[in-house]
Amino acid sequence: MRILITGGAGFLGSHLCDRFLAEGHTVVAMDNLITGNTDNIAHLAGHPGFSFIKHDVTNYIFVEGPLDAILHFASPASPVDYLELPIQTLKVGALGTHKALGLAKDKGARFLLASTSEVYGDPQVHPQPESYYGHVNPIGPRGVYDEAKRFAEAMTMAYHRYHGVETRIVRIFNTYGPRMRLRDGRVVPNFIQQALRGEPLTVYGDGSQTRSFQYVDDLVDGVYRLLFSNEIEPVNIGNPGEFTIKEFAELVNQLTGNRGGIVYRDLRTQDDPQVRQPDITRARAILGWEPRIDLAEGLRRTIPWFREELRKRGEVP
Ligand code: UDP
Repeated sequence: MRILITGGAGFLGSHLCDRFLAEGHTVVAMDNLITGNTDNIAHLAGHPGFSFIKHDVTNYIFVEGPLDAILHFASPASPVDYLELPIQTLKVGALGTHKALGLAKDKGARFLLASTSEVYGDPQVHPQPESYYGHVNPIGPRGVYDEAKRFAEAMTMAYHRYHGVETRIVRIFNTYGPRMRLRDGRVVPNFIQQALRGEPLTVYGDGSQTRSFQYVDDLVDGVYRLLFSNEIEPVNIGNPGEFTIKEFAELVNQLTGNRGGIVYRDLRTQDDPQVRQPDITRARAILGWEPRIDLAEGLRRTIPWFREELRKRGEVP
């Protein structure tokens, strides 16, 4: 198959490029590089099945030749990014999804939307099944991401129902691993870097809020299975292992041997969800998928990558 991956130079997009190429497919990666980085795909340069197009998908997308599938992963995805890039975040979820769907229709390609657990907002149902409609504040600072993705889901279903495009929607829960941006501001890169520098980890609020972290390889496997399934309705892909942010900080300190401890900061953004945990009953039943890598193991695979990045920058010995 020939596959277009928007956001292909990003954290998730680049891992998807690797997986699809490894399975023998041809991959066209597209990215405007505002939060993506060609370092993530530099190892693919010269690969006969790989090409890269620098393009902002909120503008008309032109790709020469046939396409069998489009994976729409372009978007700022960290709260720090979408607070800095609110308009771009709304545009890529809305206009970008529209353009990518139009291309899918034109090429007769299957379309897979990267949606998010953020469609559930600050959830009042726990854990979150796909049937939950969510609790999102449209005008809060996080609304730019949450509502863009909710619009993107609606647009995807409209193209499916009205134009008969074959569509898939994955709702992605917190994912981590190598190639996360060092400065993306999310809890995983922040804590790992602080720990590697011997600094205290900055827990926002009292650290009682929870998240459920999945290792990137598990996410990629879920996306791969979903694309080749027949499922039109959204599917949660996430690791149900739920941790408070304080527990997570303690685990990072333990795995890195950091003696810097924890400091508490009053930096939670408005509408920062208090809890988040995927109900993965559907993924299990429909895709035969479940995560294989627990948090400690995933962190053991991730920490060395960050150490190497900090070494390259001369920030750790
Ligand atoms: N957080 C934290 N310290 C940090 C960065 C984030 O305690 O240095 C908290 C943040 O307030 C949130 C959780 O960690 O409750 C996860 O935040 P992240 O930005 O990773 O993503 P989110 O899941 O909120 O989209």
